[in-house]
Amino acid sequence: MILADRTTTIAPPGTSAMRELANDLKRSGVNVINFAAGELDCDASDLMKIAAKLAVDEGCNKYTPTLGIKKLREQIAAQVSTRCGVPYSADEIGITAGAKQALYNAAMVLFNPGDEVVIPRPYWVTFPAQVRLAGAKPVFVDTVRTGYQLLSADLERALSPDTKGVIINSPNNPTGVIYQPDELRRISQIALERKIWIIFDECYSDLVRAGGTHRNVVQLAEETKGQTILINSFSKSYAVTGWRIGYACGPKHVVSAMETFQGHTTSNACTISQHAALAALRQDDGRFIRDVNAVLEQRLRIAMRIVGSMNEITCAPANGAFYLFLNVAQKLGKAYRGQQISDVGKLCELMLREVKVAAVPGDAFGDPTGLRVSYAIETSQVEEGLQRMSLFLNNIV
Ligand code: PMP
Repeated sequence: MILADRTTTIAPPGTSAMRELANDLKRSGVNVINFAAGELDCDASDLMKIAAKLAVDEGCNKYTPTLGIKKLREQIAAQVSTRCGVPYSADEIGITAGAKQALYNAAMVLFNPGDEVVIPRPYWVTFPAQVRLAGAKPVFVDTVRTGYQLLSADLERALSPDTKGVIINSPNNPTGVIYQPDELRRISQIALERKIWIIFDECYSDLVRAGGTHRNVVQLAEETKGQTILINSFSKSYAVTGWRIGYACGPKHVVSAMETFQGHTTSNACTISQHAALAALRQDDGRFIRDVNAVLEQRLRIAMRIVGSMNEITCAPANGAFYLFLNVAQKLGKAYRGQQISDVGKLCELMLREVKVAAVPGDAFGDPTGLRVSYAIETSQVEEGLQRMSLFLNNIV
């Protein structure tokens, strides 16, 4: 019996393979340091935990409207309006089962088979997969040589009469880079002139290191509001990746199309998570995220000191999210104690075997010269793991 063609257009996320391998080893008693995770290591925000328990006790067990409870949509609209300096109303907000569903909704309601969608590379694994599921074609633009940011000139070169959209993610997974406002303004200008959708994934908007400032395109160029879908999530800001709660903000007719689409796929996001999210937004004094950022700041400082000791390795400017993206191009084709490093997958495999450190090979993100390290793990582990990694990499000659 044969499966549908679409099953062959996508593969499992390359980020899970290494994470699971590392977890298996850990369970069997090996002292593995796992830099492959894509989530904060801390417990969820108390605000959300308390509100979720209350929601259970108060009997919030039923379906909600497809795009979420009105009060949460209103609360998010108010917050996004303040942040962007542009008014958003509740019917321009859709609550989803994580940002992943918001992105999927967007791809499915915006793109037709044959449309082209520009995706800067390295990219978060799911962007091209969702574009393909919509039948559209991802058009990649390499950013390794341009500071891991899409330049407006490169965007312009990638456009064709079939271009329907561009997907931008800042702060970025896998690179940790925050896009420069000037470049984002120029990108916005091109999107406006060429009438293409901007899907702007800002899931890591709250995770910004000292000196970094995050801005989305609507904040920078108000005129883009009518053709931008902002994507955000509670996953990273409140350490609740498993609770599946995120949202999309976009023009009414787009959000309304998402409602119809989501109404036939999953219905509403988890009711309990919605109530928790509402309470968190209402009561949030910013302390949770300040504490998270302070810890990440300290880890990043330690990490950068050790990365500085790695020969022939460069690192993307890491001032957002919680990732380091190392460029290992100069190590490829060399050998570790007689074992050939043919590609970055082999490098990661050997690193796990030899020094028990797991990281995600860049080819999972479309960049065969990169390596993603998540520093959202215990501080002592960040130090120990990167020291092991440095020793390993410096022995590749
Ligand atoms: N976008 C990016 C860039 C991400 O890194 C992730 C999570 N790894 C998501 C979206 C999905 O987040 P959520 O848990 O809200 O679905």
